[in-house]
Amino acid sequence: MTPRARTTTLIASIVVLVLIVAAFATYRLMDSRTYQLFGTLVDRVDTEEKVVALTLDDGPSPLTPEVLQTLADADVPATFYVTGSEMVERPELGRAIVEAGHELGNHTATHRRMVFIGGDTVAQEIESTDRAIRDAGYAGEITFRPPYGKKLVALPRYLDEHDRTTVMWDVEPDSASADTDEIVRMALDRTHPARSSCCT
Ligand SMILES: [Zn+2]
Repeated sequence: MTPRARTTTLIASIVVLVLIVAAFATYRLMDSRTYQLFGTLVDRVDTEEKVVALTLDDGPSPLTPEVLQTLADADVPATFYVTGSEMVERPELGRAIVEAGHELGNHTATHRRMVFIGGDTVAQEIESTDRAIRDAGYAGEITFRPPYGKKLVALPRYLDEHDRTTVMWDVEPDSASADTDEIVRMALDRTHPARSSCCT
């Protein structure tokens, strides 16, 4: 191999390496539950009390009445991260969540992955969902949760500019395949004390 060919090969190798590292870093950043580039992100809150903040994603769906009944029976408040499209589809269920005294959060209009998109798309997804939530009669602060937890640049920048809080999570039982007992066990196993009183 000539010196020139060696140099070319070396540069090509470095470029490939840099691209791999950049792709990996982008992926980690996109999926991080504890960090975003701009604005406020909450994944857990340290407290002296033994409490869990219960959040439910997507909907309102045909399951919502049953969920509301279960929460009412247990006298437990929750935050429902709803999508704008489902709120428009089932406005009566959106109102039922509000009337039951729960919190509503914004989970975008269409539940798309909010990465590699422009500011206009972000604004449309968020603002139309806010309108649907307000139409249901909800007057409290509307926090935001990204579908699949994915966020990169345009979304956090928009949220920051509009003084909105991103709410992630730190305990996620498998609600797709586990049964009720398993979900409860997973949630309790993974719930841990506040960092200030933990692990000293
Ligand atoms: Zn979701």
